[in-house]
Amino acid sequence: MRVGIGTDVHPIDVDRECWIAGLHWPGVPGCLGDSDGDVAAHALCDALLSAAGLGDLGAVFGTGDPRWAGAHGVVLLGEVRTRVEAAGFRVGNAAVQVIGTQPKIGKRRAEAQEVLSAAVGGPVSVSGTTTDGLGLTGRGEGIAAVATALLLVQ
Ligand code: MG
Repeated sequence: MRVGIGTDVHPIDVDRECWIAGLHWPGVPGCLGDSDGDVAAHALCDALLSAAGLGDLGAVFGTGDPRWAGAHGVVLLGEVRTRVEAAGFRVGNAAVQVIGTQPKIGKRRAEAQEVLSAAVGGPVSVSGTTTDGLGLTGRGEGIAAVATALLLVQ
């Protein structure tokens, strides 16, 4: 068994659509980024890569690579899953926590878990929390996520 950790933060951009945890959130401000800004998916990607010893998102996808411009987090997760499995692992389970005032993860937790679990090929738990008004997430300037993953040798 191998464990990994991942984090991500993106600034909020009210002019972008919100994609968090593999879901579109109508009416919620989106995140700025080269991709769709899905901090939950990105943190999960990094946790999986970390557990497999395959580096991080920047190393795998590069920054500013046009192939991944605007890519949805679930697409990146699928690519990461392919690499993790090619390295001889499968996902035991993973967990991701979204930190911010919006979106309210609990309202669509089951839906998010279904989408992310399908993407990585193992059970993913999704949770949300706030920082009680403190920091960039509390002031609504950004959204953060932290994730862990447990991989099993195939
Ligand atoms: Mg990111």
